[in-house]
This record gives sequence, C-alpha cells and structure tokens, in this order.
Amino acid sequence: GRSSAQDYDFFFLVLQWPGSYCDTKQSCCYPKSGKPAADFGIHGLWPNRDDGSYPQNCDPDSEFDPSKVSDLLGSLRSEWPTLACPSNDGVRFWAHEWEKHGTCAEAALGDEHGYFQAALRLRSRLPVLAALRDAGVRPDGGYYTLAQIKGAVQRGVGLEPFVECNRDESGNSQLYQLYFCVDAAGDRFVDCPVSPGGRPCGNRIEFPAF
Ligand code: 5GP
Ligand code: 5GP
Ligand code: 5GP
Repeated sequence: GRSSAQDYDFFFLVLQWPGSYCDTKQSCCYPKSGKPAADFGIHGLWPNRDDGSYPQNCDPDSEFDPSKVSDLLGSLRSEWPTLACPSNDGVRFWAHEWEKHGTCAEAALGDEHGYFQAALRLRSRLPVLAALRDAGVRPDGGYYTLAQIKGAVQRGVGLEPFVECNRDESGNSQLYQLYFCVDAAGDRFVDCPVSPGGRPCGNRIEFPAF
C-alpha cells in the first residue's frame, strides 16, 4: 500500500556482473581499493511503483555524506564496488544511488545509513553466484539460455530474478544485471509486481569472466 510519505510500492534490488560492465565498448575502471571480487555487486535499491514508474531525486537538499556510513564503508567497498571511470573510491556511485533513489525511500528505510544498511542486508541473502555454479552456469565466457539462468537462481535462491543483458564488444548478448523485488518496508523479498524495462536477452547469453 502507498501513503503520501511513501510514493512507491516496492523496491528493485539490482545486482550487476562486473565482467559484463567491463567488457563492453566503453570498458571500465577498477576502484581505488583494487579489483573487486568476481561476484555480483550491488547496483542499487530502487523504489518503484506497481505501474512501472518510479520516483527519483526526492530530496535535493540531502547530499551523500560518507561520514554517515563510516561503519559500512568496508562492506560497501566489497559489496557495492564502482566500475566507472575514472577510477575512484566508490563515493561517486554511492552518492548517485543515494541522491537518485535512496532519498525516495526515507519513509521506509530512514536516513542514508538505513538505506545502505538495508541494501547490504538484502544482498547478503542472495547467494546468486553459488546458485548459478551449482547448476553449471559459470562465468567462463560460455553461453547459457535464459531458462538455465533463471532456473538456476530460482532453485538455489528461491526467487526468480529478472535478467537484463547488455552487449560485449563483439555484440554478443551477455548476463549484465539481476533484478529482485523487495516489499515496500524493505525487509521481505516478493514476486515482482512488474518487470523492469531493460533490453531483451535473446536465448544465447554469454557469462563472461571477470
Ligand atoms: P542509475 O542508477 O543508478 O541512474 O545509473 C547508474 C549511474 O551510476 C550512472 O550514472 C553510472 O555512470 C554510475 N555508475 C558508477 N559506477 C557504476 C557501476 O559500477 N555500474 C553502473 N551500472 N553504474 C555506475
Ligand atoms: P514470459 O512472460 O512468457 O516468461 O516471457 C515473455 C517475454 O519476456 C519473452 O520474450 C521472454 O523472453 C521475456 N523474458 C522473460 N523473462 C525475462 C527476463 O528475465 N529477462 C529478459 N530480458 N526477458 C525476459
Ligand atoms: P538504464 O538506461 O541503464 O536502463 O537506466 C538508467 C538508470 O535509470 C538506472 O541506473 C536507474 O537509476 C534508473 N532506472 C532504470 N530502470 C528503472 C526502474 O525500472 N526502476 C527504477 N526505480 N529505476 C530505474
């Protein structure tokens, strides 16, 4: 349900495969803290409405302040690494996500600390790479079907993700992001009320190494 203080119905928790961010035409840069682990990282926790629309930039006065998440910075570096260029410490990515999406979630998640803590806690409940591996879906540059990927995550995690693809330098469709849905309170995974937009994957999906 929605109230005026909460202009959204659920969240997308979006995870990104770093290998697929990096092997596009645009390439990438590792953060100052070094090459991230070969695992899915957090892209964002995005408030969304059941009709597919979403609020954004809800509080222009609320600038990201790293000192408010000082106890989370280690986890943010490992679980929410930036791959954008030029190389930086991640603060730019976290600031973008907080200002664009987090400021719209203050009704449920509270302040900046609550937003990042909620995203990290939710991420820790999603052993997606192990689920894929257990089904033989490995980041080895091989090709998999959409059903293999979705089925593997469904079996191993108990949730069916929406799969977003992008294209590598040669134009091959590849596994880029996984979308999971979370209730408006930010504490339970739910079936997604609506699919995110996003590019179609086709049925031959590369899972590049990182
Ligand atoms: P969206 O959340 O949040 O509006 O788009 C992502 C924004 O964050 C883009 O402006 C992108 O340049 C920036 N960004 C910084 N680091 C990353 C990263 O590692 N992955 C992605 N997808 N975007 C990043
Ligand atoms: P269905 O709802 O029958 O599973 O799928 C309808 C259409 O959406 C099909 O073209 C199917 O390929 C596409 N689709 C279903 N799930 C996903 C997904 O997770 N990612 C993407 N990119 N397309 C999907
Ligand atoms: P892209 O063009 O990469 O699909 O999306 C650009 C940015 O728009 C994303 O990084 C994200 O900030 C936002 N965005 C795209 N799709 C959705 C969506 O379905 N829900 C929400 N809340 N934000 C989205």
